Amino acid sequence: MRKVVLATHNLKKQVELQRIFDAAALAAQVVTLEDFPPYLEPVEDQRTFEQNALLKARAAAAATGELAIADDSGIEVELLNNMPGVRSARWAGVGASDAANLNLLIAQLADTEVEQRSAQFVAAMAMVSPSGFEAVHRGVMCGHVILTPRGENGFGYDPIFVATAQPAPGGRTNAELTAEEKDAISHRGKAAATLIETLRIHLE
Ligand code: IMP
Repeated sequence: MRKVVLATHNLKKQVELQRIFDAAALAAQVVTLEDFPPYLEPVEDQRTFEQNALLKARAAAAATGELAIADDSGIEVELLNNMPGVRSARWAGVGASDAANLNLLIAQLADTEVEQRSAQFVAAMAMVSPSGFEAVHRGVMCGHVILTPRGENGFGYDPIFVATAQPAPGGRTNAELTAEEKDAISHRGKAAATLIETLRIHLE
């Protein structure tokens, strides 16, 4: 089976992508950077999700000699000129916890009405082959931010994000959806779905 390197040390991401590949009957084994000798990984300092994902995938393909995949994602709030954006993971500072990031965003939106809090999650997934083929796919999940966190599932900003395209009953935060319900409408799920079609052709 063809090996595909996911440019991450996060084993949850590995399990998630393998699940998505298996569901799509894509014959590929997902391994991570944990399976290779360490190399100097690039700093995610680009201005777009796509550029950051490509940066990571290029470095992983060059270092491992395998077909590499990398993702970058975050939340964009319209009223905040689409911030936090590529700074989502570090919104309250480098190494900030999910809770600190989420609480800062709530504070920044404290005096706003729900109609002003349109937001979207964005994910970019890039693939780079050792021979230099490159592709990058984007997925978006639209919704709005609420100011009182709800729900125990998911991670990051999930407890304050209400996705528009969720199954009944509506009005739930991402943290109140099951993993399957979220996967079906998520930015990462959509980006992965199109990436799989590119991979299918490439792995033939
Ligand atoms: P990455 O792991 O470098 O892509 O960082 C993405 C950051 O964006 C995470 O730390 C989260 O704060 C946020 N984020 C991305 N996707 C999601 C999601 O599905 N739910 C909640 N937060 C997310």
